[in-house]
Amino acid sequence: MKIHEYQAKEILRNYGVATPRGIPCFSVDEAVGAATRLGGKVWVVKAQIHAGGRGKGGGVKLAKSLDEVKQHASRILGMLLKTHQTGPQGQKVRRLLIEEGADIKQELYLGMVVDRGTQRVCLMASSEGGMDIEEVAARTPEKIHKVFIDPITGLKDAEADDVARKIGIPAASLAKARPALQGLYKAFDATDASLAEINPLILTNSGEVIALDAKMNFDDNALFRHPDIVAMRDLDEEDPAEIEASKFDLSYISLDGNIGCLVNGAGLAMATMDITKLYGGSPANFLDVGGGASAEKVTEAFKIMLRNPEVKAILVNIFGGIMKCDVIAEGVVAAAKEVHLNVPLVVRLEGTNVELGKKILAESGLPIISGSNMADAAAKVVKAVQGAGV
Ligand code: ADP
Ligand code: MG
Repeated sequence: MKIHEYQAKEILRNYGVATPRGIPCFSVDEAVGAATRLGGKVWVVKAQIHAGGRGKGGGVKLAKSLDEVKQHASRILGMLLKTHQTGPQGQKVRRLLIEEGADIKQELYLGMVVDRGTQRVCLMASSEGGMDIEEVAARTPEKIHKVFIDPITGLKDAEADDVARKIGIPAASLAKARPALQGLYKAFDATDASLAEINPLILTNSGEVIALDAKMNFDDNALFRHPDIVAMRDLDEEDPAEIEASKFDLSYISLDGNIGCLVNGAGLAMATMDITKLYGGSPANFLDVGGGASAEKVTEAFKIMLRNPEVKAILVNIFGGIMKCDVIAEGVVAAAKEVHLNVPLVVRLEGTNVELGKKILAESGLPIISGSNMADAAAKVVKAVQGAGV
């Protein structure tokens, strides 16, 4: 689950990370009111969407008067902000953060992810903040410093100071950097985050160390123990198909191809997308119906896939392990009838009760194309899509 910058900053502040003072707003009037309340002479009007790269896309603007706050807020609110993370269609801006302007001397980078190899949280820090960190990682990886944090001790003072020095924090500001680094780790750990990023972390001309931007993603599997974070969810920022799928406990991710894929098991779903690609097709989604998919769940999965107008064929790939093939076949038949399926449907079944499953499909009267194995099914679904003139 993702949250907005202003929400991530709220969390980070609770763990001792310094941020500029700011107020989230939903209207132009609120924005002007917020700037008035914050006081000062310089404000920053920041679009709040679940995507980075807002600055380059025109979603972060400096204002030197209340009039400018008003102008920027009017232009940014409601705009379709396009960044490298929103896709070409952009994301509509519905919330703003009005923040006091910071006196930037240097822009640094801090990031945190779970490193599966070492089974630790990895802190990444760089002197090259503000710009695309992916580019720094690709071109000058030596400029990214990593610390693999011991979960027993947390980020130790000496480790924090060492990495702070490496990214160019002067000795006089080390004591200011420590709460930022350690606070980020504590927040990450306590909230079951999967990713946290402060880009840029800035050093001000007076030697303060402040988080100017903040991003946090959370592990969905741990959300049940964080109702306060769940309350921060903004459904406007999420894909409606994915929201619908999550109601039925389906793991669904929208993609930009035209072959709907319905699979049980995440690994098989990945392999199905790979083989579809190999045969020249393009998946419209990732969909794992899980081990215990009922006929109802399969029907919902079909409905969600078919709501996507791009879908020109469906590939069902099921391995009947816990799940029996006949149960899935019944689900597929029921779903295909209920949704009045009007695109080609290719089904590959294997595993427990496979013969019975195939019989149910064959006797259903539906124009189901049977795939004898994954390669055959992939080839057939790609051919079906091409036959549809796409
Ligand atoms: P994004 O990463 O989505 O582009 P940021 O919050 O990082 O958005 O803002 C982009 C840039 O805008 C920052 O790198 C910084 O230079 C500037 N900026 C952001 N917030 C402030 C602020 N409160 N005061 C001054 N400059 C800011
Ligand atoms: Mg940023």
